[in-house]
Amino acid sequence: SNRIMLGPLVAAIDQGTSSTRFLVFNAKTAELLSHHQVEIKQSFPKEGWVEEDPKEILQSVYECMDRTCEKLTQLNIDISNIKAIGVTNQRETTLVWDKETGEPLYNAIVWLDLRTQSTVERLINKTPGRNKNHLKHKTGLPISTYFSAVKLRWLMDNVEKVHEAVLSHRAMFGTVDSWLIWCLTGGKKGGVHCTDVTNASRTMLFNIHTMDWDPELCKYFDIPMEILPKVRSSSEIYGLMVSICLQCLGDQSAALVGQMCFKDGQAKNTYGTGCFLLKNVGTKPVMSDHGLLTTIAYKLGRDKPACYALEGSVAIAGAVVRWLKDNLGIIQTSTELEELAADVGTSYGCYFVPAFSGLYAPYWEPSARGIICGLTQFTNRSHLAFAALEAVCFQTREILDAMNQDSGIHLSQLQVDGGMTSNRLLMQLQADILCIPVVKPSMPETTALGAAMAAGAAEGVSVWSLNPEDLTEVTSEKFEPQINPEESELRYARWKKAVQRAMNWET
Ligand code: ADP
Repeated sequence: SNRIMLGPLVAAIDQGTSSTRFLVFNAKTAELLSHHQVEIKQSFPKEGWVEEDPKEILQSVYECMDRTCEKLTQLNIDISNIKAIGVTNQRETTLVWDKETGEPLYNAIVWLDLRTQSTVERLINKTPGRNKNHLKHKTGLPISTYFSAVKLRWLMDNVEKVHEAVLSHRAMFGTVDSWLIWCLTGGKKGGVHCTDVTNASRTMLFNIHTMDWDPELCKYFDIPMEILPKVRSSSEIYGLMVSICLQCLGDQSAALVGQMCFKDGQAKNTYGTGCFLLKNVGTKPVMSDHGLLTTIAYKLGRDKPACYALEGSVAIAGAVVRWLKDNLGIIQTSTELEELAADVGTSYGCYFVPAFSGLYAPYWEPSARGIICGLTQFTNRSHLAFAALEAVCFQTREILDAMNQDSGIHLSQLQVDGGMTSNRLLMQLQADILCIPVVKPSMPETTALGAAMAAGAAEGVSVWSLNPEDLTEVTSEKFEPQINPEESELRYARWKKAVQRAMNWET
C-alpha cells in the first residue's frame, strides 16, 4: 500500500479525571493526526468519596492506543514512526499497588475526594497557630484534602492490605503517571517506578526548592520513603515500551507547555473537571499572599532549570455539568447545557456555588458546601444551567484577581483550553465577567500537545524542537467582552455574597 511519508511522530497518553485519550502528532508540524478517547467511570462509595479503578484506567489506555493505531493504519500512516510517548495525567490522584503481584491494593483515590477532611483538620489543629500554610515554605501548598500525602496516609491507616504491603516492603505508591509508566514498562517484571517533578510537587512530600523528596515532610506524614517513585525531569527517557521512549508531565503543566507559555508572566486556564489557572513565574519560586499555590511548571531536561508556576485551582468546573446531567437529569449530554442556558441568556438572579468538595483557591475551605440561592417562582432549569456556567466564570475571576494582586500586573487577555471550552456561551460569559478577551486555540488538545512536545524534545529522542523560533504559531479564536464593566461588577459582587453563604457550612 502507499504509505504516507510524514517523518517522526510523537504520541501522548492523556489520562484525565473524566476520560483517557491517546493522540498522535506530527513532530514537524504539530498537526494532530489521529486520536481516540474512552470515558472513565467514577464511583462515589460514600458521601464525599471519589474513586476510580486503576485497572480500568490502564485498560482504557490500551484501548485508546489500539484504536488510534488502527485509525492511523487506515490512513496509511506508518505507526513505526512513533518515536516517543508522553504521559500526561490527572494530578494528585493516589494509588498503591503490590510490586510482586502487580495488583492495585485499593481503588485510586481521586484528587476531588474529601474523605481526609478530618485528618486535615487534625493536622492543622496540631500546627502552631492552627496555620494551614505550615508546610507552604517547602511545598508551596496549604494542608488540604487535595494533595496526595493525606490520601496515602488514609490508605495506610484504613486499608489492611496496604498496611501489610508497606510492612513487608512490597508496596509502591504513585500518582496515575507512575502507575501507568510502571505497567507500560513491564510491571512486576521490572517496571520503572518513577514520576516527574510536576507530579511530585503535588504530593506534599516534595521540596520544591531542593527538587527532591523531603525526609522531614515524609516524617510529618509518617510515610516510608522506600515506597515513593524516583523523581525525574519532565523531558527525559524513563523507559521503553516496545522500544518507544516514555516520559511524563502533570496535565496542567502539559497544558502550559502546549499553550507555549514558556515566558515569565504567561498564563493559561484549563476548563476540565476542575479549572486550573497557571502562570509561569520563571526559575525562582514565588509564594502567594492571596491563596494561590506555588508549584513546579516543568523541568524540560535533566540539566535544564525548573520553572515554577503560581496556580489557582478550582475543584468543580466541568464536574458541575456532569452533576446536572447525572444527578439532576436536566440534560442528557454535556453539550446540551449550552443550548439550555442560551434559551434564557441569564440566571435571573440565581447564583450557584458548586462547593461540592469544599472550596479550593483562593479560600482553601474544606467545610464549605454547595448552595443555590436567589431562587424565585420564576426560576427554571435554563436559569440553573446558566448559573452553573456563570459559576465557572466567577471562580476563574476570583483566581485571576488573586493572581493580579500577587503580581501587581494585570493580564491583558486569558489563554484557555480544556473540554469545557467547546462551550461558546461559556467562553463569551468568561470574557464578560473578566472584562478582558478570552483566547482559545483552534486545536483544543493542548494538554496532549504539551506532553508530546516534552516527550519529542527529550534527549535521545530529539524529534521536536522547543526553540521559540521553531514553534509553530497556533491559530486561535478570540472572545471580546460584550457587557459593560459595571454590570459585570454587580454580578460578581452577588457571587461573592453567595460564596460567603457556602463557607463554614458544617460549623
Ligand atoms: P478532564 O481532563 O478533567 O477529564 P476534559 O478537559 O476532558 O476534563 O473536559 C471534560 C469536562 O468538560 C467534563 O466535566 C464535561 O462535563 C465538561 N464539558 C464537556 N463539554 C462541555 C460543554 N459543551 N459544555 C459544558 N461542559 C462541557
